[in-house]
Amino acid sequence: MSEQKNAELHAGEVNRRNFLGLGAGALAVAAFTGMSAEGQSRETMQKGREDHSASNPGPVNKALADENPSSELPPITDKGDVRPFWYSFDLSHRRVQEGGWTRQVTQRDLPDSTDLAGVNMRLTAGSYRELHWHTANEWAYMIYGKARVTVLNPDGTIFIDDVEKGDLWFFPAGFPHSIQGLGPDGCEFLLVFDEGLFSEYQTFLISDWVAHTPSSVLAKNFKLPQAQLAALPDDELYIFPGKIPGSLERDKQAVGGKAVESTVSYTFKLEAMPPTKETEGGSARVVDARNFPASKTVAAALVRVKPGAMRELHWHPNASEWQYYLSGSGVMTVFASSGKARTMNFNANDVGFVPAVAGHYIENTGDSDLVFLEIFKSARFEDFSLNNWIRRIPPEMAMAHLNLNEQQLKEIPSEKLEIIAG
Ligand code: MN
Ligand code: MN
Repeated sequence: MSEQKNAELHAGEVNRRNFLGLGAGALAVAAFTGMSAEGQSRETMQKGREDHSASNPGPVNKALADENPSSELPPITDKGDVRPFWYSFDLSHRRVQEGGWTRQVTQRDLPDSTDLAGVNMRLTAGSYRELHWHTANEWAYMIYGKARVTVLNPDGTIFIDDVEKGDLWFFPAGFPHSIQGLGPDGCEFLLVFDEGLFSEYQTFLISDWVAHTPSSVLAKNFKLPQAQLAALPDDELYIFPGKIPGSLERDKQAVGGKAVESTVSYTFKLEAMPPTKETEGGSARVVDARNFPASKTVAAALVRVKPGAMRELHWHPNASEWQYYLSGSGVMTVFASSGKARTMNFNANDVGFVPAVAGHYIENTGDSDLVFLEIFKSARFEDFSLNNWIRRIPPEMAMAHLNLNEQQLKEIPSEKLEIIAG
């Protein structure tokens, strides 16, 4: 920017302040109470929009408009073309089969989410997600009920475990695994894959393989007469009903007990773990390769934000963020640099996305707890808190950038809180 242009802009700022009738001292007090010249002007502009400019006499899809008030009437601070960062599993096709269903939100729906894709799946009691494997690593969060999972290691040892609401699993790419719904009512879970274009409908299925292998080869491989292979599936099973299995211990013994047991644990109790951070406003439970060593490529946080509270202004230096909203309602603004920002609303079963390093906050707008997962393609969860940054730099530097005085600066929390009470 030229010096002349800079001087003009500065003069404009001074004139505007004079016009609003606020001296420097009043401005300092006003800034502290959220009534700065800038704030005043934003409020006036926002009100102007609401009064007349935003009138909308044409057709409206009322259900969608009501669901997305921040798109219908954006805050005056939103600007520019920010690519889509909201989608919902409730907009996805649901593939329903005897025994359960599945649906997915991938890079096809959120074009900037190249690192991660998600699947939501339900298995009724006893039903199987067929034995399979795939190109991506699989991270999962149990939303409801109970399931039994198995995964085989390349050394021939097997991991078998039962999971329930709030538990995780991680299955490495290429490792064959299974999921079975347990009693009394099966399960529902979220799967997250570390490939944006992953498709749950393009996995390697055991039924699909045997259906496409000559019978003579199968007979030789299985050491069974060809005539006894007539009942093998000739099409994929994918999801199919089954009987609720016996105890976990019985299954472990049936395959060979301790001698063939995996030394690596592929499950983790996230919700049952003490919070990594707990404040007046809520809590965050962080899980990554440090406390769940199997999860080499996915890090996550289970975040609970109380009514009126907010996941503070922050960003992540190491990865984009894929979010799944479990309950409550909230609002998020993504600041995309270059004067671009967009605000969107999120409800249970919605997916959110934040590009790597983009600034954001998530505010609880409802009267119940807002609970969501932040998920990253990384071995470590990492974030920067805006407050923490402002308070760690020399105070003169912070004051010079934000036009705050020393007293005001000291009011800003100096530590990373993650969740700020309302
Ligand atoms: Mn899988
Ligand atoms: Mn975040």
